[in-house]
Amino acid sequence: MPELEKLTALERLTARLAAVLPPDAVITDPVRLRTYECDGLTYHRATPGVVVLPDGAEQVAAVVRLCGEHGVPFVARGSGTGLSGGALPRTDGVLIVTSRMRRIVEIDIPNRRAVVEPGVTNLAITEAVRDQGYYYAPDPSSQQVCSIGGNVAENSGGAHCLKYGFTVNHVLAAEIVTPDGDIVELSAMDAGYDLLGAFIGSEGTLGIATKITVRLSRAPEAVTTLLAAFTSIEAGGHAVSAIIAAGVVPAAIEMMDALAIEAAEAAVHCRYPAGAGAVLVVELDGPRAEVEHQFAAVERICRDSGAFEIRVAASAEERAAIWKGRKSAFAAVGRISPAYIVQDGVVPRTALPRVLAGIDRLQEEFGIRVANVFHAGDGNLHPLVLFDDSVPGEAERAEIVSGRILDLCIEHGGSITGEHGVGVDKARYMPRMFTGDDLDTMQLVRCAFDPRGLANPGKVFPTPRLCGEVPGVRKGAHPLVEAGLAEQF
Ligand SMILES: Cc1cc2nc3c(=O)[nH]c(=O)nc-3n(C[C@H](O)[C@H](O)[C@H](O)COP(=O)(O)OP(=O)(O)OC[C@H]3O[C@@H](n4cnc5c(N)ncnc54)[C@H](O)[C@@H]3O)c2cc1C
Repeated sequence: MPELEKLTALERLTARLAAVLPPDAVITDPVRLRTYECDGLTYHRATPGVVVLPDGAEQVAAVVRLCGEHGVPFVARGSGTGLSGGALPRTDGVLIVTSRMRRIVEIDIPNRRAVVEPGVTNLAITEAVRDQGYYYAPDPSSQQVCSIGGNVAENSGGAHCLKYGFTVNHVLAAEIVTPDGDIVELSAMDAGYDLLGAFIGSEGTLGIATKITVRLSRAPEAVTTLLAAFTSIEAGGHAVSAIIAAGVVPAAIEMMDALAIEAAEAAVHCRYPAGAGAVLVVELDGPRAEVEHQFAAVERICRDSGAFEIRVAASAEERAAIWKGRKSAFAAVGRISPAYIVQDGVVPRTALPRVLAGIDRLQEEFGIRVANVFHAGDGNLHPLVLFDDSVPGEAERAEIVSGRILDLCIEHGGSITGEHGVGVDKARYMPRMFTGDDLDTMQLVRCAFDPRGLANPGKVFPTPRLCGEVPGVRKGAHPLVEAGLAEQF
């Protein structure tokens, strides 16, 4: 048998990469490959078969075509900050990393748009236009490091997406490499089916974005931030509903419960009002007159809902001090628990009190503590399920509680993910939310783009291999948070 025939498909493909990429853009050294073995959900790990660092759409397309020829799967990776294992590599596949594609191609202020390569970080877009009074609105708290390509794939959100919308509301067009290796442009202005809409949030399963046109927003004239303290989470929840019912859409409304406040206090001494059962951070922005008018309404509503203390930031420093406790909350939980699961679910805003009561019942039933931190305005919960893995059975109970919380979200008309995506981690929960027919229909969309299933296989949709897998647990703060590169909301 000729030597070539003994090689695996991946080895044959790797041998041909030299024809389409410079030598330093192909990584096969086992030690260097391990750098890429997980994303932000470090619980799931796999060493990629080979890593490529293409510089431009043509090189991405050439690699994807080789994958097609050899029947080898490929996974796109931006900055690897995803929290659902979406960029988890394949040991039998190619990991296509966009870190060399970091050019801001065009800034077009008159038309309020910018064209960027996928490896550009979220914050770099704002930094490029800030001097001109503009910014890129979606603000995941990983924005210093996460890539815009990853944001598109996850349809990422952030604290200020309540008023301004998620990534899907700020992407006007994308150049993508299809799983066949063609380079095509998808635009919000296309007639016919909204293929750009289908691509955004598709978690790397419909192709690889190689250029993205984003909307630029005008920086607001005024910003006001206030902190309101309540004795109970129900009172805080009532204030949230009343604010929205009054027709005010704040830039952000964030809530923390007593356990999350305790953790933040232990970690960063945020000095939130003593005895608070819940705090709300409300931020208003826009034209000065509108902000002043809305602020009066929000303050009145908070008092009417039982706020026993309201603090208003009078300076940028005071604003940062209010946000400090909220922004530190995830990492801070490491101060009060050796390990925790970061959950991400979403429910209609009006269902928040019932879902929180349900989480309380789960805590009692399983003897597991849950700290609640959430984007209250859009019903996006991030319950932190605390456990001590040195106590026999506690990790297992925490996993059950974590899954039951998602059941609660589904029962109340919500979803298993608000912003972190399905990835590999939550694929097994998809059948709890969708019927077999629903999932088959989604597969038809996937197959229309990728009939051979080579683009990020094993993600989003459940396969038998994923049964019995456990959600990711975190011990201590995320490394990006510890490095001061990201805040976790
Ligand atoms: C500390 C911390 C805080 C976070 N805060 C938030 C938050 O506030 N809001 C939020 O929504 N998320 C948050 N995240 C999650 C994460 O940052 C986002 O999901 C982000 O969009 C991922 O970007 P990335 O470049 O790291 O993507 P990766 O992790 O590299 O990849 C994520 C997914 O995108 C796909 N992908 C990557 N690039 C491309 C491309 N060019 N084309 C097609 N598919 C691609 C990958 O295959 C994978 O499925 C946080 C994460 C951390 C660690």
